[in-house]
Amino acid sequence: MALAGEEARGAKLRVFFIPFFASGHIIPMTDLACLFAKRPGVEPTMVITPANAALIRPTLDHSASSGHTVQLLLYPFPSAAHLPSGIENLGSVSSDDTWKIHKAVDLSREAHDRIIREHTPDAIISDIPFWWTTAIAKDLGIPRITFHAVGVFPQCIMNNLVKNRVHDHVPTDSHPFTIPDLPGPCIKMVKSELPEFLKHRDHLTSAWDDLKKSQLESYGVVVNAFYELEHEYCVITTERLIAWESLVRRTVALCDEQGKAGRGGGESEAARENRERCMRWLGGKEAGSVLFVCFGSWCYFEDEQLREMALGLEASGMEFLWVVRGDHGEHVKTEWMSEGWEERVKGKGLVVRGWAPQAAILDHEAVGVFMTHCGWNSLLEGLGSGKPIADADAVFEQFVNERLVVEVLKVGVRVWDGFRSTFEKEKVVVPAEAIERAVRKFMEGSGEGEEMRKRAAEWVKIAGAAVAEGGSSHKDLNSLIDDLFILQHERKNGKHIE
Ligand code: UDP
Repeated sequence: MALAGEEARGAKLRVFFIPFFASGHIIPMTDLACLFAKRPGVEPTMVITPANAALIRPTLDHSASSGHTVQLLLYPFPSAAHLPSGIENLGSVSSDDTWKIHKAVDLSREAHDRIIREHTPDAIISDIPFWWTTAIAKDLGIPRITFHAVGVFPQCIMNNLVKNRVHDHVPTDSHPFTIPDLPGPCIKMVKSELPEFLKHRDHLTSAWDDLKKSQLESYGVVVNAFYELEHEYCVITTERLIAWESLVRRTVALCDEQGKAGRGGGESEAARENRERCMRWLGGKEAGSVLFVCFGSWCYFEDEQLREMALGLEASGMEFLWVVRGDHGEHVKTEWMSEGWEERVKGKGLVVRGWAPQAAILDHEAVGVFMTHCGWNSLLEGLGSGKPIADADAVFEQFVNERLVVEVLKVGVRVWDGFRSTFEKEKVVVPAEAIERAVRKFMEGSGEGEEMRKRAAEWVKIAGAAVAEGGSSHKDLNSLIDDLFILQHERKNGKHIE
């Protein structure tokens, strides 16, 4: 491949990555920065707050040990958000305090402005909530690329609903309606399962116009996805974005094998212990025999739901590795365990409190099924390791993601068919029987579960091919970096980005 402009001259392409304060955004953006670091001449820097930086150190150290350095540039987490020192992540606050994280987003504007102007990188890849970075970048004549932690499918659906507002005209919150203007199978939703900002005015409703405008004015969009996963939806999105004279790239930022174990969990003693415990336990299990249960970085359950889940897992008869988080990331209580439960499941079930190395666990051959909340990264990681999915509970866009898993790709089941809601206060406790029933589907050697298992297994090859040399994500990423080198060259020759 011919080297472009400054790259050919040996000049460094300095790219700043600025993630939102949530692990589901920080993890894939760090993976992306590590991919940039692999390309000669690129100098990626994670611009991040101190406690969030601590979470990605194992990944950065691993990347550096392979010769691919990602720099860290720290800025203080805004104290005016009134969170205790060291609490800087959506996963570390109680559900009542999530608004403080969103407030911190707004309060970060000044720090971003100062850092970007002081260092003048050659390009910025910043998370969607940081809409002001487009204007700063424009001012300096450098490209800003908008980073989307979630895929094209949920974005198509959310954008359509913002535009058409079909959900405003349904008689009740549980009345199904069809998502308009979509390719592929007909997708129906109910209002209670929609992201909060579509139902009521919240921080996102207020910021939506700014986010969209800044995205359309940015140089392009990078999506944490790969073309083959959502190609029909990519086609319509690309067409629309091209019509808006923008650029869309897709890249699945799957991290490499050895990097998976330390991903996102930081270097604490507890995280290290969990890592070793999980891998040791899985090592003694038969291939495909274990159900892995994990609900992302910030979702948590009331005691009553945990109790039902525990009973459902026990009744299913499948061995399980279950990650249980507490609200605020605090040590998880055990009062929810019904009497004698821990004794009864000894050897058959491992309960891990806090953070577990999800990507490494999913890759383990002992894991046969993944029960998740369908967070976008979990969906990608589940498919990337070829595991069928049982979807339970969700917030924000995750019920939308579930439609992709269950109805479009047909690689998973919905655990509960009763009323579900993204509102904490409306959540209905999913009974043990529903959990047992869903897991049992995957334990039969034939039928629906087996079909899903086979289809899911296909995705290992497809996702692997996308990120391998010459694959769609590999090409997308390289051509994006090529473009950034060209822009850097043009800027040095006096051409200003429009
Ligand atoms: N994760 C992990 N260990 C945990 C919990 C979460 O490694 O114990 C990782 C998971 O692998 C994924 C991310 O955290 O990369 C969660 O992102 P996702 O989009 O699935 O859900 P969110 O946390 O945003 O709800």
